[in-house]
This record gives sequence, structure tokens and C-alpha cells, in this order.
Amino acid sequence: MEKKEIETLQEAGKIASEIVKYAKSIIKKDMLLLDIANKIDEKIISLKAKPAFPVNLSINEIAAHSTPSYNDETLAQGLLKVDIGIHIEGFVADTALSIDLENSEENKNLIKAAETARDFALSKINLNTKIREIGAEIEKVCKSFNVQPIHNLSGHSIEVYNLHAGITIPNFDNNQESTIKPGIYAIEPFTTLSSGSGSVRDGKLSGIYHLEKVGTVRDNFAREVLGYIADEYSTLPFCSRWIHKKFGTRGLLALRQIEQAGLLHHYPQLIEKSNSKVAQAEHTFILTLKEKIITTL
Ligand code: MN
Ligand code: MN
Repeated sequence: MEKKEIETLQEAGKIASEIVKYAKSIIKKDMLLLDIANKIDEKIISLKAKPAFPVNLSINEIAAHSTPSYNDETLAQGLLKVDIGIHIEGFVADTALSIDLENSEENKNLIKAAETARDFALSKINLNTKIREIGAEIEKVCKSFNVQPIHNLSGHSIEVYNLHAGITIPNFDNNQESTIKPGIYAIEPFTTLSSGSGSVRDGKLSGIYHLEKVGTVRDNFAREVLGYIADEYSTLPFCSRWIHKKFGTRGLLALRQIEQAGLLHHYPQLIEKSNSKVAQAEHTFILTLKEKIITTL
């Protein structure tokens, strides 16, 4: 990796960690998720970066892939995960925090477990660490907090304009003998109660999409919206809220036409299978032949 690329990744990471601090400072119980999302979007732009994906604001048993629609009335409550992505010219930082909004010891323990598992795994990772060993460390820390990791959610490699670039970093020992190579990775343990199922299922559609296929649509206006999506987001995720902000209600109809033409992937929400509460912690790091840099600290 070139010096310039590493610097850009570090700059994105620094902004991501500023957004984490900002999120912690503004989020209060009963605030509209929509207000939180809009404020975070504005703050990212004011720091001269772009969102790498719509901020995920996922409550309790919703583990991930939830972002407010333009007219959403959901209020912040319970165990709230805030998953934040920043990019500068496609160089991505991916980070997440969890907030307990009901003063619950159970929530606090789930959060502490996720953060400790993340940080312990990060401290252990070096070139040629076996990927299964990273998962085993995460699982071991979770057990020490008397909680369990979500088994079908994992960390991932990152490339330019590509959030999930193919390699997964499991949150348990998955017997993967391969070792970790130089690259960009996100490590993200999700924790749930030991009485929970420890896995997620697909829930309702989230309003989060990414452009999946090159193609066109018949309607002129829908074609204009499609062009905007390709220019503005490339293959990174975006949401219906952003399209509504730019194009109004017509934009949402166009979005539906583009989806019906088969050009989009529409993410479902991810829900803990037994509706057990979920916490998440995440950092992005760069591994080179010489060093390990955690960009989102
Ligand atoms: Mn994330
Ligand atoms: Mn991630």
C-alpha cells in the first residue's frame, strides 16, 4: 500500500472517530432517530468527508442494517447500535458504538463485552495470525462476560469503494486455517445474551441499497436518479432517505423503478433470531508488512 493511500485511510479514520464522539454527545433517549441520522450526515459533510454508508441506528434485537426513512418516527431507546462509515475518495473507515439508553446492567455488560472482545482481538492480531484464532479470542472474551457472539455476523476486509471485500473475520473459532495478510480490515464483534440464539435472520427491508448491476431504466427521470446514484455513491450503500432529500417523493418512485429493473441490492434488517438484545463494537485497522494501524481509534 502506498503512503498516500495509508494517509487517506488514516484521515477517514480520524473523521470517523470524531463522528463517534459527536454521536455520543448528541444522542439522548427519545430523540428521533431521523434527527440523529440527519445531524450525523451533516457533521460528516462539514468535516469534508462522505458517509461510506447510511448511518445504521439499530435498536435492541435489530443487530444491523437499520436506518431511518425520510418520515421515520422511531425514537432512540433501549440498546442502540450506531454504525458509522466514512470515506474519502473511496478509502473507507468503518466503526461502531453501542449506547445504553435505559440504564440497564444487562445492556452495559453486552456493550463492555463487545468492546473488550474487539480490543483484545485487535491487540492479538499480527501478520500471519490464523483467522480462526482471532475468532477464538473474541469468543473467549464473550464467554468471560457470560454473553455470546453473533455467529453469522463478522468482521471483513475492505478495499477502495468496497466495504465487504471478500475475507471475513469471524467472531468465533470457525476452523479457518488461513492467516491474515496485509490489507484493510474491520473487526466487529456483536454480542447477545447467552440465553439468545447467537445468530441473526433477515427482517424487513431496510431502505438501504447498493448499486449491484450496470443497466438502464426506461423512464427519463428514473434514469436521472440512477445516474446520480452511480456518480454519488458508486457501489457503496445509500438509502431512500438520501434520495428523498435530493429528489423528493418522485425520487422514491424512481428508486422503486430502478429496484424493479433488478439493478439494486436492497438490504434486509438483521434481527437476532430469538429477539435477544444485541450490542456491537467496531474498529478499522490497516495491516502492512511493517505495522498495524488502528485508523478509527
Ligand atoms: Mn460498521
Ligand atoms: Mn463493518
